[in-house]
Amino acid sequence: MIAIDYKALKSALATPCKIAIIPHRNPDGDAIGSTLALCHYLKKLGHEAVVVSPNEAPSFLHWMPGFETILNFENHRDLALKTLEQASFVFTLDFNHLSRVGHDMQPNLERLKTTFVMIDHHQQPDTYAKYTYSDTEICATCQMVYHFIEAMGDLHLIDKDIANCLYTGILTDTGSFKFASTTATTHKVAAALIDKGAQNASIHRAIYDTNSPSRLHLLGCALKNMEILPEFHTAIIHLSQAELDQFDYKKGDTEGLVNYGLSIKGIVFAVIFIENAAEKIVKISFRSQGSFSVNEFARAHFNGGGHDNAAGGRGEDSLENTITYFKSILPKYKNQLDK
Ligand code: 5GP
Ligand code: MN
Repeated sequence: MIAIDYKALKSALATPCKIAIIPHRNPDGDAIGSTLALCHYLKKLGHEAVVVSPNEAPSFLHWMPGFETILNFENHRDLALKTLEQASFVFTLDFNHLSRVGHDMQPNLERLKTTFVMIDHHQQPDTYAKYTYSDTEICATCQMVYHFIEAMGDLHLIDKDIANCLYTGILTDTGSFKFASTTATTHKVAAALIDKGAQNASIHRAIYDTNSPSRLHLLGCALKNMEILPEFHTAIIHLSQAELDQFDYKKGDTEGLVNYGLSIKGIVFAVIFIENAAEKIVKISFRSQGSFSVNEFARAHFNGGGHDNAAGGRGEDSLENTITYFKSILPKYKNQLDK
């Protein structure tokens, strides 16, 4: 755990200023929830705060309070650049290495002379921030933002909007409170957020009950493509660009698919390979159960990272070659996967 010197940060934030808040590229519920919640909170302190997202968020997050105020770097580059340049503080949330904003936005953050603040729960944090709050034991950056506001002595400022945003990230990053990272404190924070007005049942519906028929057909295709490698307790799923096109793929449609592999009895390692023709990459999601670290695996072989049991990465070759390469390195991990 790395903690912030709250006394110093509080005095640095004592006078109203311009603040930019950045989630990672392809932001998820925790990234959007934490940045929007922090934005609402900093505005209540009198600051001019804006969330600048590297790119668009999936549509199941568009209902979130304040979502319409997010500046999308990809679509409004000039305004986003101006906002970054004028900011006295840049908060980076739910990531810990500037490469996670994508190669387009990254150099524009690196050249800023402003004060960076990092709040994040991923492993191996980089050192770009003057103030770093890093804790890999915490399930969601949204829970950390709650603790951050608590440490600032401002829990009374958490209103319904902030509570809804924070609850959303905790819900999505814990897989609805089922992952091992969910602790008693997580439940206490969630309960406190409900007390402050978080609409837990409606949030769940807004996030998870938004399937379109084509998304379910895409799920059918993914499950049909699933391959079990019993000797490695591994399940892999792949989706080609042609299949995504066939089922009218929209951002967010593949969210959570990788977990189907892990739901099979005896499987400890589940992977999904998704071809992205526009970016000429194969996006890979890794999930594990137990001691096998997908963070280490993704870092070692697929230019990625994340957490022990959930990580992402990419392949730069074709879908087929990426899967072949993946299978070729699995035997090295047989012992770890047998545990
Ligand atoms: P997902 O598979 O859902 O995209 O990501 C799983 C976890 O790994 C998330 O916490 C995400 O932030 C992290 N992650 C995903 N892709 C990458 C990547 O390319 N690099 C790193 N360092 N982390 C990633
Ligand atoms: Mn997160």
